[in-house]
Amino acid sequence: MGEADCTRCALHASRTHVVVGRGAPDAKVMFLGEAPGRQEDKLGLGFQGAAGRMFDAILGYSGLSREKIWLANAVRCRPSIEGRRNRAPTAEEISACRHWLERDLSQVRPEVVVTLGRIAYESVTGLSWDAQRRAQPVPLADGSGVAFPLYHPAYLIYRRDLMTVYRQDVEALRALLAAHQIPVGDIAGPWAME
Ligand code: SF4
Repeated sequence: MGEADCTRCALHASRTHVVVGRGAPDAKVMFLGEAPGRQEDKLGLGFQGAAGRMFDAILGYSGLSREKIWLANAVRCRPSIEGRRNRAPTAEEISACRHWLERDLSQVRPEVVVTLGRIAYESVTGLSWDAQRRAQPVPLADGSGVAFPLYHPAYLIYRRDLMTVYRQDVEALRALLAAHQIPVGDIAGPWAME
C-alpha cells in the first residue's frame, strides 16, 4: 500500500485526498508543514489559500520555489472535527504518519529541513518546540542534516505583528543555505507579507 492510499491511521476514513510529499526528488531543502486543511484536502496539494500565499511569499524571499524544494506535511490527511473545522493532529496520527516522513527523508536526503510550526518541528526532531529557539539550526538525530524551525505561515494570519520577526528568520534561513552552499535565486520581490 502506497502513500496515496494509506490506511495506517483513522484519518483515512474522512479524507478526500492524501496530500503526498512532492517537489524536486533530489532537493537539498525540505519544508515540512503540519497537516492538510480543508482546501488542501479538496485539491490534494499542500499550502493553499491564505496560508499558501504566506508560504509562497516565504519561499520567494528565501530565493526558493516549490519546484526547487521538497514539500510535505508531518500528517498527510486532514484532521477535522466532523469535517467542519480543522484540528491539530493527535500524537497517534503523527506517529502513524511518521512512516511517510521517514520515507521522504531517506529518499530525498535533504540537508536542511525547514519546519513550519510546532508539530512539524517536534515530529522531525523529537524535541519540544521552543519559540525562542526558532531560526536556529538543530542537528537531526541521524546526522543527515539540520532542522531549521520557523513559525507556521498560518500563524501570521492572526499575528501580523510578527511579520518583521518572520522576515528576519527567513533572512537567517538564507544565510544557513549559503553556509551549506545550497544555491538559491534572487529574492523574489519585497517582503510580500507586510
Ligand atoms: S494521516 Fe498519514 S498515516 Fe494516517 S492515513 Fe493519512 S497518510 Fe496514512
